[in-house]
Amino acid sequence: MFIGMNYINGLWTYFRSEFKSINPRSEEVLGEFPQSTDQEVLEAVAAAKHAQKAWRGLSRIQRGEYFDKLCQIIKRDATFLIKAISEETGKHENESLAEVNETLHMAQFTFSKARMPNGEVVPSEIADKDSYILRKPKGVIGAITPWNFPYAIPTWCVAPALLEGNTVIWKPSENTPMVAQMAMAQYVEAGFPDGVINLLHGNGHVGSELVYNKDIKHYCFTGSYKTGQLIRQICAVQGNKTCSLEMGSKSAVIVCADADMDMAIKACIASAYKLSGQRCVSASRILVEHQIFDEFTKRFVEESQKVELGPLINRQQLEKVSEYNRLIENDEYTQVLLKSECLSGKGYFLSPCVYTTKWGIEEKRKFLKEEIFGPAIVIIPFDDLEEAIAIYNDTDYGLSVAVCTNDYRKMRQIRDECDFGLGYVNLPCIGAESFLPFGGVKNSGYGGSSAAGTFDTVVNKVTWTVNHGEDIKMAQGLQV
Ligand code: NAD
Repeated sequence: MFIGMNYINGLWTYFRSEFKSINPRSEEVLGEFPQSTDQEVLEAVAAAKHAQKAWRGLSRIQRGEYFDKLCQIIKRDATFLIKAISEETGKHENESLAEVNETLHMAQFTFSKARMPNGEVVPSEIADKDSYILRKPKGVIGAITPWNFPYAIPTWCVAPALLEGNTVIWKPSENTPMVAQMAMAQYVEAGFPDGVINLLHGNGHVGSELVYNKDIKHYCFTGSYKTGQLIRQICAVQGNKTCSLEMGSKSAVIVCADADMDMAIKACIASAYKLSGQRCVSASRILVEHQIFDEFTKRFVEESQKVELGPLINRQQLEKVSEYNRLIENDEYTQVLLKSECLSGKGYFLSPCVYTTKWGIEEKRKFLKEEIFGPAIVIIPFDDLEEAIAIYNDTDYGLSVAVCTNDYRKMRQIRDECDFGLGYVNLPCIGAESFLPFGGVKNSGYGGSSAAGTFDTVVNKVTWTVNHGEDIKMAQGLQV
């Protein structure tokens, strides 16, 4: 049994059993964890605030050196972490391995960024003046993270925030506290000074206490639109706060008639079923050009029956997806091609629901608009690219789109006319690399991207102009 503890100001707190982490495959209890108190939130924020002055006073390269050590620890612990991620999220081992690699790459990228040019020198109209754009840390950053990438997503937030000279309070998901605490132990071993990174376990109440705390200046949040929207509202009325929000989606793959069919099937199966459809970028919609609709659908359903899906994260999510499946099955305009079954025995397993419907008159049906976050996939036929783009854009979300085609004109039209943050050609609509910004538009993202994009969201860009002349000369002809 894993013993859950917070980490505040360089100290592990004492063990309290206030909530459990459950393996979604076996329903076995993995560990017990404390629900952080309001007092602990205050202590963690005070520690982070205090530690920030010395931390930002180090050179960027000195701060970067901690990530070299962290990379070595991540490599050493990889096998252990792969197992833990699979146990706590239900991910297949290969997906957990990819997550560990993604985490390592983010730490390596952060280390390498430390020695890269930082800031800009900007020419002034006045020859005697030097002007600079400098990047200053915002201060204390709150990282509020989801369960589905419990190791990689926090690293996307925490590592850039620390390198830029901020200190961090991290509140991981209450569904995956064990992996979070293992990651925290790696930061501790890497030697980050006391107070620079603090871990607070707990549910949304703890997150909410952090969001109301006036000493936290920015939030890196990844999670559902509903929670992100709450955070945005609270930040808006506090005046001095910013937030970057990575939220849900209704992502899609668009398959054109000229596509390589084998590649399209592979791309769609991966997009739909990795992590049982619980990736933010999972394709819950596949749009297929009418000429190849029957062939594609037949093959997609056949392949869907062969996929070995992992479990959903918890019983609540199983019930939520089952409720959407009931709506789909009872809908008069919808034809179910593969009926979802709730598998008996231990674990939160649900087989895929594949259905088809025409787009148009009935577009108000909520299962076509809302994020289901499970293996429920609609295949919608389209007549031409304009219609495909209209269907794709017909949700409040805009995270990821993939197009399968060999026609460069179609690729370009999708690129220019679909609302997305992440676009792919002849690929699944999943798969992130740390060196790219990761984020969406519309209700999928707000305030800046994560991963490579985080370096920009956790700093204020300020200008600094120095006069080297013996008199004061102003730009634009202004007299002093
Ligand atoms: P969630 O919104 O339920 O929880 C995310 C985090 O917010 C958790 O740590 C939770 O405890 C905390 N939280 C909950 N209520 C809060 C409140 N009132 N104030 C502050 N914090 C609060 O999301 P989840 O179920 O953990 O994750 C799934 C969601 O995350 C999906 O919608 C998915 O699409 C999204 N997601 C988005 C991305 C992306 O990059 N766009 C990546 C992964 C997941």
